[in-house]
Amino acid sequence: MIRVGQGYDVHPFSDDPARPLLLGGVRFPEAARGLAGHSDADAVAHAVTDALLGAAGLGDIGQHFPDTDPTWQGADSIDLLRRAVADVRAAGWTPQNVDCTVVLEVPKLAPRRAEMQDRLSEVVGAPVTVKGKRAEGLGALGRGEGIACLAVALVAKDER
Ligand code: MG
Repeated sequence: MIRVGQGYDVHPFSDDPARPLLLGGVRFPEAARGLAGHSDADAVAHAVTDALLGAAGLGDIGQHFPDTDPTWQGADSIDLLRRAVADVRAAGWTPQNVDCTVVLEVPKLAPRRAEMQDRLSEVVGAPVTVKGKRAEGLGALGRGEGIACLAVALVAKDER
């Protein structure tokens, strides 16, 4: 048996110049600003997490790691993804692949795409692919006010 899940996340840029930009667990030191959020605001890791949880019927990232819980303040989103993958596997599902589209104006994703894919694939234990897409000037994303990510995940039920 196979199932799909989708994930979506968006974070606005932070006004704090000290906040690093993290996408898919990879740092973008050339970025002028990081994203604002309760955790490290890694929108790519969050969308991948939600896609996998959704595919396994395990709810969403907010239920697993509530932003009202101080435990997750400044959390490393790759660590949250790793925990979610463990929950997915414990429920008898094996991730097959995840595909992501990151909607952003800046920074350029291409130079670090392979690094993001490697990092996410290692954590998920299956191929994770990442594509960048500009919003062509439309709306808040087009004005570069934040970064969004869409993800779709496929999982298969373990034969037991
Ligand atoms: Mg998020």
